[in-house]
Order: sequence, then C-alpha cells, then structure tokens
Amino acid sequence: MRRPDTPEEAAFRADVRAWLEAHAKRCGGADDWSLGPRDHSEAAEREYYERMRAWQRALFEGGWAAITWAPEHGGRGGTPAQALIFAEEQAAFDVTNGYLDAAISLVGPALIRFGNDDQRGRYLERMLRGDDVWCQLFSEPEAGSDLAALRTRAVLKDDDFVINGQKVWTTSGQHADFGFLLARTDPDVPKHDGISFLLLDMRQPGVEARPLLTMKGDRHFSEVFFTDARTPRDNLVNGMGGGWEVAKFVLMHEGASIGTLRARGTRTADLAREAQASGRFEDAGVRQRLGATFVEERVLELLQDRLRGAILDGRRPDVDGSVLKILWGEGGFRKAETANWLRGADALLAGSDAPDQGLWQEQMLGRSAGTVGGGTSEVHRNGLGERALGLPREARPDRHEAFKDLKTSGS
Ligand SMILES: Cc1cc2nc3c(=O)[nH]c(=O)nc-3n(C[C@H](O)[C@H](O)[C@H](O)COP(=O)(O)OP(=O)(O)OC[C@H]3O[C@@H](n4cnc5c(N)ncnc54)[C@H](O)[C@@H]3O)c2cc1C
Repeated sequence: MRRPDTPEEAAFRADVRAWLEAHAKRCGGADDWSLGPRDHSEAAEREYYERMRAWQRALFEGGWAAITWAPEHGGRGGTPAQALIFAEEQAAFDVTNGYLDAAISLVGPALIRFGNDDQRGRYLERMLRGDDVWCQLFSEPEAGSDLAALRTRAVLKDDDFVINGQKVWTTSGQHADFGFLLARTDPDVPKHDGISFLLLDMRQPGVEARPLLTMKGDRHFSEVFFTDARTPRDNLVNGMGGGWEVAKFVLMHEGASIGTLRARGTRTADLAREAQASGRFEDAGVRQRLGATFVEERVLELLQDRLRGAILDGRRPDVDGSVLKILWGEGGFRKAETANWLRGADALLAGSDAPDQGLWQEQMLGRSAGTVGGGTSEVHRNGLGERALGLPREARPDRHEAFKDLKTSGS
C-alpha cells in the first residue's frame, strides 16, 4: 500500500492539479484522445502528433516538461517523487505526449550523461518544447534482440558521417525531425566495439521513412532507409565506437519504464461489469478467467506501487524492471484475449459497430506488440535469469571476433 503524501508532497500535488485543471480537460469526454486516435486515417494520426506537440509545449511553458532534469538542461530541478506525483495527476486528464515523451526520456538522459555541452544546448530545450520530434533508430531486419549485429554503416568523410542501411519498427519515424542512430563505424573490431551513437536530421533527401501498417490499423512506426544520408561529425555521442555503452543505458531505461504504465479504461473491473450486464458473471468459466486476469493486474499494480514507494522515499527500487515489463506485456495481452472471449461473436465487430467503439478488439490486436517492443519477454526472462537467479550467461562465441568475419544469415 502507498503511504499518504507528506505535507510538502500534498502541496505539490495541489499545485499540479490546479495547473492541470486550468490547462486541460478531464478524461472521459466523448472525444477523449488520451488513449490515442480512434480512427486510423492519416489525417487523424497527424492531428494526434500535433496534439502531442501542443501538450509538450504547454508542459514546457508551465515548467513541467522534465521535472527531474537540471534547470540548465531545461528541466525543473525537481525530485523523482515530484515527477511521479505529476504523472499520477496527469493520468486523469485527456492529454498525451506519449510518443514524444517516450523518445525524450530515452535520448534526453543519454545526452545529459554522454553528450557534450554543444549537443545538449542544440537539442535538449527544443525537444522539451515539442519543437522537434525524435525517433529511436536501433532495430534492423536482422538485428533486434541481437541488436549488436546491426549493419547500418556510417563512414566518416571529411567532417560528415555518410550513412547507408536500413532500420525497422521505428516509432514516429515518419513524423520525426531527428533520430538517434546506432551505426557500425568499424567492422574490423568485435561487434559491440564497432558501433557508434549518432544524432541525425531526419528531414534530408537521404532518409526515407515508409510507414508500416500494424494489424491494429495504425501506422505509428516505419521502416527507414538511408542512402548516403549525412550527419556532421559533431553529432557523434560518446566518441567513435562508444555507441554500445550509450545503447545499453538507453535500453535499460526503456524496458523498465514501459512496465510502469497503468491500464486505464481496460481493467478487469470493466470486464466484470460487462459480464454482469450480460448475465454471464455466475458462469464458473467466466469467473475463473476474470479471476486470473485480476490477479495478474493486481500483482503488477502492487509491484508498481512498491517501485513508486521506493521512488517517493528516495530509496533504490528493489523491483526488477524486467518483471514489470513481462507482466505488463503478457498480462495486458491475456486480459484483451479474455475480453474478446467474453464478447463472443461481438468481438468480430470493429469501430462504431462494436461495444465501446471496439476498444477491447483494438487492445487484442495492439497488445501483442507489448510483449515485443522494449525487448521481448524471452529476452527479459534471459536477463532476469542472469541478474536475479544467478544463472550462467548465454554463450557468446561472437564476442571477440571481428564483426566482418562473423557468419550471419546475410553473409
Ligand atoms: C510497438 C513496437 C515499437 C517499437 N519501436 C521501436 C523503435 O522506436 N525503435 C527501434 O529501434 N525498435 C523498435 N521496436 C523494435 C523492437 O525493439 C524489436 O522488435 C525487439 O527488440 C525484438 O526484435 P525483433 O523484432 O528483431 O525480434 P527477434 O530478435 O528476431 O526475435 C524473434 C523471436 O526470437 C526470440 N529470441 C531472440 N533472441 C532470443 C534469445 N537470445 N533467447 C530467447 N529467445 C530469443 C524473441 O523473443 C522473439 O520471440 C519496436 C517494436 C514494437 C513491437
């Protein structure tokens, strides 16, 4: 259970709530956008990004855009506890900066930790103000879980890197102004050592982002092709070959933060109400499935509360982020499965023909991605095995050989 707010926290919460009441409307309106656009036309998706930019700008102007970042980086200089309180309060309002914030919270801390003053000055404030949308250019068709197998090449010519290759599953790729890119700068050394981290202008002729249609019907990610794309040498972060260290830092934050997301409008209690309304709540099979999803949801929330409690008390969290990520991804998918099983033939309806405008049907199609994005469940389980259970590490026969000599499916 969460402890009550301290007087300082209660005062901060009251300030946050007053600001939110003045600048946003509460969730639950007829055209609630906080869960994303309900129609997946290109126009609706563009509007969604404009809404995210506008909210990001409002946050920046209100001094809430990066609560824990230092003021010299455009932040508020606040505490993790304050950031948590802000997120809790904001969740009740019909606002989102989701995809923008996801990228900011990956590349921002990486620039603060590994970038130089010039890079921080050039990019941080603009991203916090919503001027620039960023995307993460890591995964490739043959480098996902085994990210260090990436092949996109960046070759230094005079003062520019010239980039050729392909990325995939790039969230916001087609909407992005800038990307943070992992590229191979040296194939003659072992694979982890020849990777560099580069910042890249996405609005240039050598970059083509082709939107990918998901089975849910949206186009939130792209495949991105580089043909002699260029980025200046001073967009290199952490030196030549220093990219893997930055990537590890980014990935560690990504998996853990996904698992802290809270379900809204898609909770087991909503399903139980639906079962009651349809007269099926007394069915033993229905109760068993609802019981199972309730337990998973509750365990996740209790672990999230434990993590929050540690943050509020300034302690080091003792909950492994991979546990949260696995429960969030797999539990969310199972809940959507249960909802559609309960709905029977109605689960085949979509959009305005369906109950709740097809919210659970969309969850069913969209939530399988939650077990893949931010690292697959299997890969998180591998990590847990090593970190939490002390199991032996996976064999790494390719650890010391030059990348160019490795046997891969493409060679
Ligand atoms: C919604 C979403 C958004 C995404 N956004 C981005 C983004 O913005 N930028 C970006 O760069 N990438 C993004 N990704 C890509 C994501 O990081 C990769 O999909 C993920 O890392 C898995 O890689 P892969 O798809 O190549 O699968 P693979 O690595 O090919 O995995 C295939 C299967 O093999 C299993 N597997 C692989 N290796 C092991 C192992 N060692 N042990 C056990 N099982 C294993 C996996 O668990 C999986 O089931 C996104 C993905 C999704 C779904």
